[in-house]
Amino acid sequence: MNREDFLILGQEVYKKPLVYFDNAATTQKPEMVISALADYYRTINSNIHRGVHYLSQKATEEFEVARKAVRDFIHAAHDYEIVFTRGATESINLVASSFGRTYIHEGDEIVISEMEHHSNIVPWQFLCEDRGAKLKVIPFSDNGTLCVEKLEELLTPKTKILAVTHVSNTLGTINPVKEIIRIAHAHNVPVMIDGAQAVAHCPVDVQDLDCDFYCFSGHKMYAPMGVGIMYGKERWLNEMKPYQGGGEMISTVTFEKTTYNELPYKFEAGTPAVGDVIGLRKAIEYMQGVGIQNIAKHENELLQYGTQELKKIEGMRIIGEAQNKAAVISFLVGNAHPYDMGVLLDHQGIAVRTGHHCTQPIMDHFHIPGTVRASFALYNTKEEIDILVKAVQKAAQMLM
Ligand code: PMP
Repeated sequence: MNREDFLILGQEVYKKPLVYFDNAATTQKPEMVISALADYYRTINSNIHRGVHYLSQKATEEFEVARKAVRDFIHAAHDYEIVFTRGATESINLVASSFGRTYIHEGDEIVISEMEHHSNIVPWQFLCEDRGAKLKVIPFSDNGTLCVEKLEELLTPKTKILAVTHVSNTLGTINPVKEIIRIAHAHNVPVMIDGAQAVAHCPVDVQDLDCDFYCFSGHKMYAPMGVGIMYGKERWLNEMKPYQGGGEMISTVTFEKTTYNELPYKFEAGTPAVGDVIGLRKAIEYMQGVGIQNIAKHENELLQYGTQELKKIEGMRIIGEAQNKAAVISFLVGNAHPYDMGVLLDHQGIAVRTGHHCTQPIMDHFHIPGTVRASFALYNTKEEIDILVKAVQKAAQMLM
């Protein structure tokens, strides 16, 4: 599927064809994204919103067109509900900080889940520490399914927000976020979804989900590094205090009092990554060209095939076997250390991730130091999975 659009994949490493299975960490970028970035710097590079000159107006126009593209992509109601950040991590920090400073007080409760990325744990811990609030955690079962049935008992009149991942970067679990949001809303609790691992792999409609916030990164969806998105419902964004102070986010500044700019600029202090945002628009166009449903179908075939073939290896243990999974396979073989396995696979030209994947509570759940993680994208193939399986077999023989 469109592999020739990704020139980086055509290379050899250690004289072996590169097999890139570290897509949950970051995806590769198609030529049209790389060209858009280079074109931006070659033709219209300029600071936006402030300039009266031609280049600044052009760059501003392109930047705002990209905002519309993101809005369409996640089906938000308004352009101004799309806030550009540096990535999912900054988006989540923005929500925790701004929502927290506006609404969280001593004794309040925040609910997250046991399968969160550290990016969706630590910002809430900061907030709890600052405000004297309490963090509560929805557990998951041993096959990696979130225990949604436990949610009701965790929600209390003190719960002020629930933050949960759409797709786990380690277990691959696709959480039933629509159902979770419905339950939370029945308790008047707003919900933030960490969509970092979802947007490139399944259709997302924030209005259908009815989530209050949806955070993600461009670089995991074929766009350049350095840009992320924080979607927030207008109602919250209007009420929330700004995140960072600086240029662009103000309306008037005097030493006595500063008033804030309108949405979304109130949350976009400083010079944004204009070129990267323009690249993000191209990445969205690229994915829409392939078709997000086609991507999901292809990746699901890779997931099924990869799971079936890896399971044939003696001593194979797959971590995360929820019914509804995205194309992420975390595994261990016998007592081989994941790091050693990762190094041996690298020598075969295969890029996988090893370690705790910024999800230490998941490792604690299973009492393991880490896993080997193969994660797939639209350009991966069954032939590459065959190469992986052979290489894992070979490495396991050496390590056990
Ligand atoms: N949440 C999840 C589920 C992730 O997988 C990641 C990236 N591994 C993040 C948040 C953070 O994304 P970023 O590093 O792009 O800010």
